[in-house]
Amino acid sequence: MKNGIPPFEDVVAFHGHSCPGLAIGYRAADAGLSALHVERPKDEELVAIVENDACGIDAIQYVAGTTLGKGNLIFRDYGKRAYTFINRKTGEAVRVAERYEFSVQKGDPRMAELRPKVFSGRATAVEEEEFRRLTAEYVRNLLTLPEEEMFTVTRVEVEIPEKARIFRSVRCAVCGETVAESRARVQDGKIVCIPCFEHYDRGWG
Ligand SMILES: [Zn+2]
Ligand SMILES: [Zn+2]
Repeated sequence: MKNGIPPFEDVVAFHGHSCPGLAIGYRAADAGLSALHVERPKDEELVAIVENDACGIDAIQYVAGTTLGKGNLIFRDYGKRAYTFINRKTGEAVRVAERYEFSVQKGDPRMAELRPKVFSGRATAVEEEEFRRLTAEYVRNLLTLPEEEMFTVTRVEVEIPEKARIFRSVRCAVCGETVAESRARVQDGKIVCIPCFEHYDRGWG
């Protein structure tokens, strides 16, 4: 693969299965890295802002090296298949968003027909086999589809998020567990964690 991007099989091994969402995320990461002219970064030089939390995000994490654990993956719960990649070194940023026309014609309609049956365990062995074959075909197709048919890639201006910081730990006065100071709340003059605070807030505790 170009740009030193890992093969799709590696991403499948990381994610646990091959699926269309993963293939689309893989292509989105490739599109973003290509537009920024970077290879898979070693540490925290790239930041990704993702607007959904589905299968494709595992491809983004694996290919772009932007992971939740390193703090250079920012999740915004917008339900959109859009990914912004920021190069911290140069300040450059691109937003890769699925085209509407691409989003609405997702593969063979027969796949959509079989999906509910397969996932509820009501499909026959023959139907299951057909579903797997169509899905594999669709994934292969997604890996070779021209990028411009799938996404719009736009240069954007974004504020560069600061690097992950290490916060002091404090103890929750209710459950006794450790919580980062930055997430702690104060309730009746005592330090508490968010779950304990929310119980109180909703009158459950
Ligand atoms: Zn998946
Ligand atoms: Zn607590």
